[in-house]
Amino acid sequence: MKVVVLGGGVIGVTTAYYLAADGHEVEVLDRCEGPGLETSFANGGQLVASHAEPWASPKAPLQILKWLGREEAPLLFRLRADPAMWSWGLRFLRNCTAARYRAGTARNLKLGFYNRALMAELRDELEIAYDYVQMGSLLVHRDPAGFEAASHHAAFMNELGCPHEVADPVRCTQIEPALMAVGNQIAGGLFSPDDEIGDAFKFTKKIAAVCSKLGVRFRYRTRIEGIEAERDRIILVNTDGAGVSGDAFVLALGSFSPLLARRIGVRLPVYPVKGYSITAPIKKQSVAPRVGLTDVDAKIVLTRLGDRLRVAGTAEFTGYDNSPNPKRGALTVRSAKALLPGVCDYDKAEHWSGLRPATPDQVPVLGPSKYPNLWLNTGHGVLGWTQACASGRIVSNLIAGRDPGIDISGMTVDRF
Ligand SMILES: Cc1cc2nc3c(=O)[nH]c(=O)nc-3n(C[C@H](O)[C@H](O)[C@H](O)COP(=O)(O)OP(=O)(O)OC[C@H]3O[C@@H](n4cnc5c(N)ncnc54)[C@H](O)[C@@H]3O)c2cc1C
Repeated sequence: MKVVVLGGGVIGVTTAYYLAADGHEVEVLDRCEGPGLETSFANGGQLVASHAEPWASPKAPLQILKWLGREEAPLLFRLRADPAMWSWGLRFLRNCTAARYRAGTARNLKLGFYNRALMAELRDELEIAYDYVQMGSLLVHRDPAGFEAASHHAAFMNELGCPHEVADPVRCTQIEPALMAVGNQIAGGLFSPDDEIGDAFKFTKKIAAVCSKLGVRFRYRTRIEGIEAERDRIILVNTDGAGVSGDAFVLALGSFSPLLARRIGVRLPVYPVKGYSITAPIKKQSVAPRVGLTDVDAKIVLTRLGDRLRVAGTAEFTGYDNSPNPKRGALTVRSAKALLPGVCDYDKAEHWSGLRPATPDQVPVLGPSKYPNLWLNTGHGVLGWTQACASGRIVSNLIAGRDPGIDISGMTVDRF
């Protein structure tokens, strides 16, 4: 069977790999010069099955109200006349119930665990290097009230099978000696020992190279302009070059998936949520962090990727505008310096921003669409790196007519 994958980010490339491994003829289309150059390029680098809880939580509406209009808030809504944003926002609010929060957490955990197992297989089979380290992740709380609530969260996650240790400030500095300088400012932390870190872009590039060896054809610098359906089947992808036909198609265009899908009547509540990162050279390896860190109050993650520190986070609802905002970049640097002063040369930081493809319940959209030969693999929001291999495997399993690999109820488009 010939399968055309629309999008060459971490999601499209992992899907292409599993499809090629199944023996299909695969073609990947992307407008960039190479794989992984948009949202998968400089993300937080954390493979955190433990970060499964959706943003849509019972506490979220009040928190968002407090942040409204504050330019330096970790989550910034720019009130715009954009019907897609308002409709997404209403759906988000509907997901802020305890029951939906719990269900979303359980679904993301399932994906995260499956992903971890699949990535271990890939590392064994393919010998790929991507600054991978497995030493766990630590959520650092500065606010004592936040830490108090976090202890309840730990109990909830432990109950769902995801080990979390509640750590006092001394224990936090034992787990992560890089925090020694700010130990007295920390209220406590939550440690998830099984989490991992790694560079999503390096991984995407390496898997794309493996794909090429398996015969996958990559068409870069190819802008997809439309999808053509005839009766109940997709027959062609229109591009700025030649049209591309296939037997099956996988939609993996990140934040841009809904724009093309809606023209063929497939409604996807995926909306771009802009985030920022900086990447700075580490000055002294001996004082750099070993575990994947999160500053919960500043809403940033801090990750050592080889000899670089990646700091990423914050969220901005600003539509498809991905232009750099120097204020948000400066905020990221300030927050990083406050937790890890002197660890790297912040003056040499490279700044980046990307659009997270977010769904209102923060669970991706996987599997079938209303067209039997169009498959969906999109909407991974803040967890696309943590869920890429699982999502690629699930979609390739479904295309092969196999069991998806895990129970995907609540992950398909018909939930909306
Ligand atoms: C600041 C930030 C930090 C993050 N940190 C983490 C983290 O620590 N851990 C984690 O798990 N996740 C993290 N994420 C989320 C993760 O990066 C994303 O979920 C993931 O990269 C999405 O991958 P994707 O392949 O769906 O999208 P993309 O990487 O954006 O790929 C989509 C591809 O489609 C192509 N495309 C789109 N439209 C067209 C068109 N019309 N024609 C041709 N090509 C097109 C684009 O060129 C792009 O290459 C973070 C995201 C951000 C922004």
